[in-house]
Amino acid sequence: MDQLKDYADSRLIVGCIYCGGLEETRDHVPSRVFLDAPFPENLPVLPACGPCNSGFSLDEEYLACLIEAAVAGSTDPAHIRRPRVAETMRRNAALRSRIEAAKRVIDGRLAFDPETARIQNVVLKLARGHAAYELSASRRERPTGLSCWPLEVMTPEARESWETSHVQQMFGEVGSRGLQRMLVTQFTLRSETGETTTVELLLNDWVDVQDGRYRYLAIDDLGEVRIKIVIGEYLACDVSWTD
Ligand SMILES: [Zn+2]
Repeated sequence: MDQLKDYADSRLIVGCIYCGGLEETRDHVPSRVFLDAPFPENLPVLPACGPCNSGFSLDEEYLACLIEAAVAGSTDPAHIRRPRVAETMRRNAALRSRIEAAKRVIDGRLAFDPETARIQNVVLKLARGHAAYELSASRRERPTGLSCWPLEVMTPEARESWETSHVQQMFGEVGSRGLQRMLVTQFTLRSETGETTTVELLLNDWVDVQDGRYRYLAIDDLGEVRIKIVIGEYLACDVSWTD
């Protein structure tokens, strides 16, 4: 990943980004449980307290395993595509059997009943991390929206519209990483009478943390902070805070 310095006002992020407690450690966002070795350089790190830093790891491990089981249609380590996750399934029999017990066949298709509260816990944590890192925005309050679904359930039209990069209407926090990443794109518009006007647009695109493993798009525009995440090119997540 590109290493971008945060030039925004340093008073915006103080203390643990999750609970506001003491800044005791640095937390990787996304957690490496969602990535494979060799890990990308310059992974985002954020201040966290000790309890928050370690408090999400079981739920994160669960979600990483659930996603890979859903992709493979199996909890058998021999069928799991990510070696790290296959190893976890091998080592952690309790976790594997917990996911296996949630296996269902719905309309002839195999699915796993998700433990919703655990998934939401992880997704909200990730979204708070991306908001803090990209947008220099603390979002410790409850979000106004949080949803997750497999990408494969979307119609092609819905997916195209959800995946598209965001055209920025208003400038975010000056100096934030999100603003530094944006691309200035010029469009030339031609009127019916042949006059041309050039319009500059700020394009806010997805950040690819690791190809096929993790990407996100952080938007701060028109009174809304919105974080979109795709994990394992399987699970889509959308978290928003509206003022
Ligand atoms: Zn904390």
